[in-house]
Amino acid sequence: MRIETLAVHAGRSPDTVTGAVTAPIHLSTTFEREPDGSYRAGYVYARNANPTRQSLEAALGVLEGGVPAISFASGSAATMTLLQTLAAGDHVIAPVDAYYGTNKLIREVFGPWKLEATMVDMSDPAAVTAAMRPSTKLVWVETPSNPLVAISDIARIAEIAHKGGALCAVDNTWATPLGQNPLALGADVVMHATTKYLGGHSDVLGGALIYREESESAQRARLIQQSGGAVPSPFECWLVLRGLCTLPYRVRAQTAHASAIAEFLAQQPRVSVVHYPGLTTHPAHDVAKRQMKLFGGMLSFEVEGGADAAMGVAGRLHVITRATSLGGPESLIEHRQSVEGPTTRAPAGLLRLSVGLEHPDDLIDDLRQALAT
Ligand SMILES: *Cc1c(COP(=O)(O)O)cnc(C)c1O
Repeated sequence: MRIETLAVHAGRSPDTVTGAVTAPIHLSTTFEREPDGSYRAGYVYARNANPTRQSLEAALGVLEGGVPAISFASGSAATMTLLQTLAAGDHVIAPVDAYYGTNKLIREVFGPWKLEATMVDMSDPAAVTAAMRPSTKLVWVETPSNPLVAISDIARIAEIAHKGGALCAVDNTWATPLGQNPLALGADVVMHATTKYLGGHSDVLGGALIYREESESAQRARLIQQSGGAVPSPFECWLVLRGLCTLPYRVRAQTAHASAIAEFLAQQPRVSVVHYPGLTTHPAHDVAKRQMKLFGGMLSFEVEGGADAAMGVAGRLHVITRATSLGGPESLIEHRQSVEGPTTRAPAGLLRLSVGLEHPDDLIDDLRQALAT
């Protein structure tokens, strides 16, 4: 079946007891045992598993084309779990421009636990090859990257990782399963912040790891999920399931709007560069065209005149909201340098835009008046 159908039905079915078409949110933390001590449906205690979470995990697995899918209380908890499957002395390769929180986790949380790490320019596969060590166990890919929207070649990097005996993980939060399918391109595990496009409405935190197949790493991730307990609540699982229904239509509209805005911004004299993989001027447009089905709703652009000029532009917007995060119905703009702090790699004049579902002409009018000063 096609992704529109799967987005609505995968992992879900009418409630067998009541016939409710929208499955109930199972809030119960505990499940009754039969007189013989067995469990009626296999559920014991909600941290280990519950029907709402299982439904979400089944749906996520189908959308990314992998099993098992393991869900978490945030995208960062999913990332942390994958890092926790590794051992002290293991080596990880990650992009220099990964999600800010990911590199912070690797450096500040796992550094003291003796996880070794090298951050490279992942849009250059030779840099990944050069960073490989005998102890490299994980190559973390994020494409498109944040906030420079750089593109890395998933198939090439998965090959390099596998040659060295390492797993290849892809943060697919920005692209979504509509944009690219890392497992089909050779990656072993996909990570999602369901907080973003999958939830889709800026009202739920969540994360997931989706493995291509059962493996030792997947089993450890499940163990850490169940024992560590960084799990999403049933209500949060239900919100993400609800968001999934419209995912294909939202991402397609957001991609169309982002493309129109990228073309508009590229014509503006006060904008020195637009970072969007759908533009032929993007340095890795060819790779993006090869591995992506949609270029997505995320772009960034640099305003001439540095931080003050960029803040000025953001400050004059009326429709686009100044806030962090992405993937919701409302367009969000953010000056990344000032939110990331002193170790940021974001250029001073860079604004990151998560393009929403408003009419693109209203968004372009808003940007036009903000750039007009
Ligand atoms: C938001 C985000 C995360 C972290 O997700 P949280 O739910 O905020 O913990 C990780 N990677 C990317 C690309 C993100 O956008």
